[in-house]
Amino acid sequence: MKIASFNDFRIGIVEDGQLFDITSVVPAAFDALPQQRLNWLIAQWAQALPAAQAARASVSPVALASVQLLAATPCPPHVFAAPANYRKHLGELGDRTVTKKGRSAREQGFFLKAPASVVGAGGAIFVPKGSARRFDHESELAVIIGKGGRDIPRAKAMEHVFGYACLLDATMRIEKDTFEEERSMRKSFEGFTPVGPYIVTADEVPDPANLANRLWVNGELRQEANTSEMIVDIPELIELISSVLPLVPGDLIATGTPEGVGPFAAGDTVTIEIEGVGRLSMPVREREHVSPRAY
Ligand code: MN
Repeated sequence: MKIASFNDFRIGIVEDGQLFDITSVVPAAFDALPQQRLNWLIAQWAQALPAAQAARASVSPVALASVQLLAATPCPPHVFAAPANYRKHLGELGDRTVTKKGRSAREQGFFLKAPASVVGAGGAIFVPKGSARRFDHESELAVIIGKGGRDIPRAKAMEHVFGYACLLDATMRIEKDTFEEERSMRKSFEGFTPVGPYIVTADEVPDPANLANRLWVNGELRQEANTSEMIVDIPELIELISSVLPLVPGDLIATGTPEGVGPFAAGDTVTIEIEGVGRLSMPVREREHVSPRAY
């Protein structure tokens, strides 16, 4: 099943370019906090599935192109990310990154991106006005957690996965000795975590460890790899994160980027395609507001 968030945090099932609005399965109390509807649905999925299927059967679809798609998970409780998880990516950025000495996500663990940096296919990536800094694309498979848990062993980890989406981990690079801001800030500008175009539930992705992952800037292929090349696979990432703190329903894990990371700028269009998961195309725009400090 493909589950989209759209317009005012409504929820729909996507089939062949059509969208079936199933928002009615979420309790009306969430009308006061609509951005939490999807987290409720993910947490209650086993019980809510029959109602979701009944709602799907009773509504008339609209064209997917007629709605504004929000992030596949518009309000994830956490956005965890693996910093160095494809061998050929290690070292390719030289002094522009804090990820050094060939250490992988296994040694470095995870970092966090701000949940408010997520955006969907109907939005944009915003770079600071007038910036001369380098902003990079990182094409990643996103894992959406269904069942939460603490100390989840890797043998049981896949039972905790709700689904998958394409994720762009946009990043402002450091300039050694000049600009060395914290990573969480450099990766959390508005729109720096596009996730979409919607969630593909885990039952439709039988082998997430063997998916082509490609990214283009303005139609030029920049990144091309397979999720089989991850150093730390999805079960080990879930084991690692849940060994530190509890995972909760709706949490998002960015599983790391392969080689080919490179710059984008305002006016560009960045497109990710992950086999069996979807295709997400994002415009890059410059903010109109002038920042109180230079970025
Ligand atoms: Mn990344």
